[in-house]
Amino acid sequence: MTENREVIIEVKDLKKVYRIGTEKVVALNSVDLKIFRGEICCILGTSGSGKSTLLNMMAGLEKPTRGQILIKGEAIEKMSERHLANFRQRHIGFIFQSYNLLAALTAQENVALPLIFRGVPKIRRERLAQKYLKMVGLGDRSKHKPTQMSGGQQQRVGIARAFVGAPEIIFADEPTGNLDTKTSTEVMNIMWKMSREKEQTIVIVTHDPEIAVYADKVIHIRDGLIQSIEVIEDNDVYEKRILPFETEKASDETEKASDNIQEGGIQ
Ligand code: ADP
Ligand code: MG
Repeated sequence: MTENREVIIEVKDLKKVYRIGTEKVVALNSVDLKIFRGEICCILGTSGSGKSTLLNMMAGLEKPTRGQILIKGEAIEKMSERHLANFRQRHIGFIFQSYNLLAALTAQENVALPLIFRGVPKIRRERLAQKYLKMVGLGDRSKHKPTQMSGGQQQRVGIARAFVGAPEIIFADEPTGNLDTKTSTEVMNIMWKMSREKEQTIVIVTHDPEIAVYADKVIHIRDGLIQSIEVIEDNDVYEKRILPFETEKASDETEKASDNIQEGGIQ
C-alpha cells in the first residue's frame, strides 16, 4: 500500500539549535520522517518537546541549523525568501492555536485574505470565501468581526482561510489548544472531512492524545527527538467514533457544517 504513494514531505537529519547569549538550546536533533500525500499526520508531544519548531521548519517559517526539508521534492531550506513566500502561497495553508484573525476584518474578509496575495479577482474572492465559510458552518456569520464570534467559530474561520486556496498541505499548530472538548471535536471533524475530500495532507501539532486518534500517522516527539512513528492503516475513527457523536448529539451548527461540506465539495 505504501509503495505507490507520493512522499509529499520528507525531513532528513534535521537539527535546530537556538542560541540565547552563550546558552544553547537543542530544540530538535536528528529528525527524519516522511509524510505521504493525503495523510493526516499528528506530531504528539508535551510542552517544550520541539513540536512547533519542527512544524515551523516544515512550513518554511524557520531555517534549520542542519538538515533538509523536502516538500514535493524541493529543498525549501535552500530557497530564497521570495521563492519560499511564493511556494508557501501556492502549496501551504496554516492554522494557529490563537486563530490569528485580523480584528478589523470581517469573517469573509479574513477568509479571502490568502486569495488577495494570489491575485484572485475580488468577486471570485468573495464567492470563494463565502463558500468556505458555508462549508465550516458559518455561512450566516460572514459579516461578523472576530470579537463577535466564539473561539470555536473563530477557529472555523481560521480553517476556512487555510483551506480557501485549496493548498496541498495544511499545517496546524495546536488548533484545538484554546477550545473545549466538544468544540475541539467539531473542529477536528471539519478539518478531517475537508482534507479527505481533496486528498489534502494535514500535519497537526498537539499535546492531546485525543486529537491524535484522527491521524493516519502519529509522530511521538520528546526532547527534540522522535521517539516512535505509529502508522494507523485504514483509520476509520471518523466513521466509528465521530459520526455517531455528530448525528446524535451535535449542535444544529455542526450538522449544518457537515451537510454543507457534503453538498458543496471543495473547489
Ligand atoms: P513545543 O511546541 O513542543 O512546546 P517548541 O518547539 O516551542 O516546543 O520549543 C522547543 C524548545 O526550544 C524549548 O526548549 C523552547 O524553550 C526552545 N525554543 C523554542 N523557540 C525558541 C526561540 N525562538 N529561542 C530560543 N529557544 C527557543
Ligand atoms: Mg508549541
